[in-house]
Amino acid sequence: MTSTNRYLPPDTVNALLNELGDAMPLITIGKSVNGLPIYGLKLGQGKTKVLLWSQMHGNESTTTRAIMGLLGDFKAGKHSEILNQLSLYIIPQLNPDGAKAYTRYNANAVDINRDAVALTQPESLALKNVFDQFQPHFCFNLHGQRTIFAAGKNGKPATLSFLSPAADDSKVITAARLKAMQLIAAINDSLQQDIPGHIGRYDDTFNINCVGDLFTSLDVPTILFEAGHYPEDYDRDKTLKFIRNAIIIALNSIAEENYFHFSVQQYQNIPENSKDYVDVIIEGVTIKEGDKIYNDQLLAVQHQEVLIDNKILFQPKCVAYGKKLDLIGHQKLSITELKINTLIDFEVEKTIEIF
Ligand SMILES: [Zn+2]
Repeated sequence: MTSTNRYLPPDTVNALLNELGDAMPLITIGKSVNGLPIYGLKLGQGKTKVLLWSQMHGNESTTTRAIMGLLGDFKAGKHSEILNQLSLYIIPQLNPDGAKAYTRYNANAVDINRDAVALTQPESLALKNVFDQFQPHFCFNLHGQRTIFAAGKNGKPATLSFLSPAADDSKVITAARLKAMQLIAAINDSLQQDIPGHIGRYDDTFNINCVGDLFTSLDVPTILFEAGHYPEDYDRDKTLKFIRNAIIIALNSIAEENYFHFSVQQYQNIPENSKDYVDVIIEGVTIKEGDKIYNDQLLAVQHQEVLIDNKILFQPKCVAYGKKLDLIGHQKLSITELKINTLIDFEVEKTIEIF
């Protein structure tokens, strides 16, 4: 199984950005470790300022696709109320080196979302400089998440997840956190109609090295958006539609100032994410591990995303087995349906040909 959509290298993004034309001039806000330009765009005439950045993790492309779609909408004259009420600063792809290599990290193997305070990397500095100069009233921190998350313990797959990060170790609800919580509650209220039970919330353990936590501690409401998995949608085309709607709902709520109607309780009612899923569970497998043979086992398989020839290959990897597993498979297969050896040597065959 492969996906062409999931790979979004800087050349593709920059070609799309250049098509936007003179009405949306590109600002070079910095250069990556490997010298690639990092672009930003300013749009809108409103007083309230919103800073959005996507793909600080290079292998999380769905929100960048959402941003490119949104920019196309703006060019076509849609969502004019947003641009009348708000001023937007959009960074479509903060980590172009990571996007090119399809990795979470930058070219120095640093996670930019753990570098918010130390600012050792050019990508981290580019974002912080924009934050300091633009002085946003709200920030949208746009990410993608793996297929492993359920919206609540043993819940449906988490297609979208959100977080209002803590501002300190006490996790006290500051004014900034409250606004982020209210906005997330507004998004959830609207999108539950489209994807009931598929929206999750992350735990709010404070880490000042994460950008969202730092910006929240500086009194700027910051929302973590996570584009996750919808059943059978490994290209993330369905998720793309939902995350794009989530961004538009949040911007409209800020423009119309109607998020005040939502409560902390409504935010806290969103179920917390739980690591309950694997991609495939295969039934009836005989496992060999060391000298021992285990019959009639459940085998949990998780796809590893590997970049090959500009496509993402989903390489199935054996991660666990047992008579019972505390895991849910997005797909369930019986070993008899598969044209593979029924005996799996768990130590040798870490990857398994099932597609
Ligand atoms: Zn991420």
